[in-house]
Amino acid sequence: MTTLPASFRIKSFGCQMNVYDGERMAELLGDNGMTPAADGEDADLVVLNTCHIREKAAEKAYSDVGRLRREDGSRPLIALAGCVAQAEGAEAQARSKMIDIVVGPQSYHRLPEMVAEAALGRRPIDTAMPALSKFDALPRRRKAAPSAFLTVQEGCDKFCTYCVVPYTRGAEISRPWDDVVAEADALIEGGAREIVLLGQNVNAWRDGPRRLDALIRALSKIDGLERIRYTTSHPADMTDGLIAAHGEIDKLMPYLHLPVQSGSDRILKAMNRDHTADSYRRLIEQVRAARPDLALSGDFIVGFPGESDEDFTRTLSIVDAVGYAAAYSFKYSARPGTPAAAMEGAVSPHVMDERLQQLQERIAKSSLAFNRSCVGRDTRILIDRKGRQPGQMIGKTPWLQSVFVETDAAIGDMLDVTLTSALRNSLGGALRTAVAA
Ligand code: SAM
Ligand code: SF4
Repeated sequence: MTTLPASFRIKSFGCQMNVYDGERMAELLGDNGMTPAADGEDADLVVLNTCHIREKAAEKAYSDVGRLRREDGSRPLIALAGCVAQAEGAEAQARSKMIDIVVGPQSYHRLPEMVAEAALGRRPIDTAMPALSKFDALPRRRKAAPSAFLTVQEGCDKFCTYCVVPYTRGAEISRPWDDVVAEADALIEGGAREIVLLGQNVNAWRDGPRRLDALIRALSKIDGLERIRYTTSHPADMTDGLIAAHGEIDKLMPYLHLPVQSGSDRILKAMNRDHTADSYRRLIEQVRAARPDLALSGDFIVGFPGESDEDFTRTLSIVDAVGYAAAYSFKYSARPGTPAAAMEGAVSPHVMDERLQQLQERIAKSSLAFNRSCVGRDTRILIDRKGRQPGQMIGKTPWLQSVFVETDAAIGDMLDVTLTSALRNSLGGALRTAVAA
């Protein structure tokens, strides 16, 4: 048997699912005797866990490969993982001789044996898509951050015309109920207090007749689990049960990431989005009726082919109408093989830049207004990292805002605070006992 190299480093880009996959690969390599390289130390194996969603993200993967050559001309073993690996397969190795291993998101449970092959000078590729078998082959979770990701659903059948996900992550599949509950139990045993259920279309999750709301309800009964979140959702899969769950399950946090992409029905139709601006707004009203303090976030694309000034103005209006607590906005990027890449009416880069800037200003205004509306509230935060100042820690509110607070509490603690000040991306807080004193 070939011995594996001693140390590894995994760099994950893109979505939270890649962060989850990166953690699982690290556990797998660790179980096979490899150790993570310390900060600043050369690793024997570098895994680039890549994102293909926009062209820039995909190109970054190759420039990152180039940078791995060391000053003396040597280099680590290099594995290209994630969605660029899936989309490009053997092409990736043709493009860069430095890539030893190409492994897609559904095959990374085979990473240790592929590393062993690469150590013998071979160049293994695996971009097969065996539904769910990777989860069966992965080790049980042992250590978890206070807020831990748990992938419950992968792939997508929605085929929005701009998006590569249905091609890189494959068809929509849900992990079975028992597997998810077992992994949640293990994460809580390993130290997690919050679980974020992940999926490209997480609210499409199902096991027989049981939908995501039933799963959340069952997880909420686990002792030691304080908070549950889920992301990313599609408007078409917001079931009545899930909407009601927001009003009924205390541990389900009052936060919903529900991308709309555009405020123009014409563009939504061309995007194959399955909803209109109005149906989206009505949906938001329903979830807010169930949970009035709900914080909303979304995704937007500007410059989709054929987007006129008027279409874009409708997008700005939806930001005003919804009052997002946060939102992500992107310039449209034509992706090879997607229907939108062949559409006419390309929007010039200059117009895209202007629209993106306007949209981001509008979103910033909305976030600031939301944060300001929270000042004075008493709430609970989950400490997840240290602040820059001595004695300062940062924690998350139920509405996913970062709060800076002076405390000697540790990462993973939950603190009762009063929110005292607001900026666009964060709030200041004071310990409740300290406020009362
Ligand atoms: N499944 C989710 C959904 O339906 O919205 C998210 C999928 S994707 C990983 C995250 C976001 O990237 C999308 O919501 C969309 O705003 C953006 N995106 C996807 N394809 C894009 C493209 N070709 N150009 C620009 N942005 C894109
Ligand atoms: Fe992509 Fe649309 Fe599927 Fe989201 S719903 S992953 S944007 S195809």
